Amino acid sequence: MQQQRFNIFIFLAAIGFLGILMTQAYWVYNGLLMRRDQFDRGIQLAMRTVLSRMIDYQSAQKLKCIELGEGCEELGQRIETAVPPALLDSLMRQEMTQLGLKGQYRYVVFNRPNKRFVAGLFEGFEDQLINSSYQQSLKAVFVQGDYVLSVVFPDIQHHAIGRFSLWVVLSSVFLISLLFSFWSTVSLVRRQKRLTRIKADFINNMTHELKTPIASISLAAEMLSKQVVASDYAKVARYASVVKSESSRLQTLVDHVLMSAMLEEGKVRLNRHKANISQLVEEVVHNFTHRVSELSGKLELNIEAGLPMIYFDRLHMTNVLVNLLDNAIKYSRGAPEIWVSVKSTSGHVVLAVADSGVGISLEEKDLIFKNLYRSHTGNLHDVKGFGIGLFYVKKIVELHGGKITVESEHGAGSVFEVYLPAVINTENYES
Ligand code: ADP
Repeated sequence: MQQQRFNIFIFLAAIGFLGILMTQAYWVYNGLLMRRDQFDRGIQLAMRTVLSRMIDYQSAQKLKCIELGEGCEELGQRIETAVPPALLDSLMRQEMTQLGLKGQYRYVVFNRPNKRFVAGLFEGFEDQLINSSYQQSLKAVFVQGDYVLSVVFPDIQHHAIGRFSLWVVLSSVFLISLLFSFWSTVSLVRRQKRLTRIKADFINNMTHELKTPIASISLAAEMLSKQVVASDYAKVARYASVVKSESSRLQTLVDHVLMSAMLEEGKVRLNRHKANISQLVEEVVHNFTHRVSELSGKLELNIEAGLPMIYFDRLHMTNVLVNLLDNAIKYSRGAPEIWVSVKSTSGHVVLAVADSGVGISLEEKDLIFKNLYRSHTGNLHDVKGFGIGLFYVKKIVELHGGKITVESEHGAGSVFEVYLPAVINTENYES
């Protein structure tokens, strides 16, 4: 139920984010369009102003010639005199500077039908000017022909986006940081939820595991306190041995928990010696043969000849192998089938424990090495454990400078491989 609510929350938040993203994109796009529109209007207005200034100039010229009574026949005969290049240049400069486009424009006066350029600043931009969308007919100042004033802005995109880009960048940064913090919060909550579940499982298992020895010990103590039992030496010895074995079980439990805490804090120190690991493996496997054959299972061992020496802590490496074999039995389906092998690869000695048990799903492959993690199969099948074993194994192997890998599929058995660095010295090879 809680999981469902959590998923709904994530779904709603994701929709919210998508909505914000789309709204932002919409506003940015709209803003760009508006800027472009504003820019176009500004240019059109500037061109009209240039035209009206030229009309003013022409009227002034006409008045002057009427006053003087000479040169009037020349007026309006040629485009160059109707639109003097120097005047056009100064008007254009004035208007463009007012728009904040000083030096960023090119312009020309040209005859539309024959594409003849009359005046302007156009080198290298002829084609753009002919096809420009910023054009103003000059019919009002020169009736003959179809002359136009055309303007282009080589950096127009840059100019339109220019001031806007700061907002685009800022809103992208805010969005990304919001997305990042949202994602971190979700994964933190997920991790916390998993941890809470793991801890609850651990407490359940631990209580369960503690209950049995405590009950046995208190029962034995109660029996020992009875006079009929106290006078019978055989019975006293039996109950005393129950107390001993159950308290040693409790001790092992406490040791496991303490060890995992020490590993977590990095307080475990190794006592390493250079040796061939095959003897240790043989001993441990031998100790397991009885247990496996009692379950009508099989346990095979294969050790490659001429293994290189490695530096290892005997006690901890024994525990590593014991844990792997223990799991291979615990998570078997029916009679366990286990294959142990030791071989050398380039620079490493590889200790492998394979079984044909329940296997591990892909999602759990990394999780099983975490402290207190137990897969559901463990809890479901009522297999005893605390999720400490593989965490211990991984930490010890890493303290040896090695690594552990697992190959497995759900329902198809597992292969755990421990890689330990070999001592690189040919004198250390045994024949
Ligand atoms: P525990 O056995 O106490 O649960 P471990 O740390 O040894 O803790 O193992 C963690 C989990 O990894 C187990 O709960 C189990 O689901 C899975 N696992 C370990 N070894 C095997 C194996 N050989 N086959 C299938 N699953 C395994």
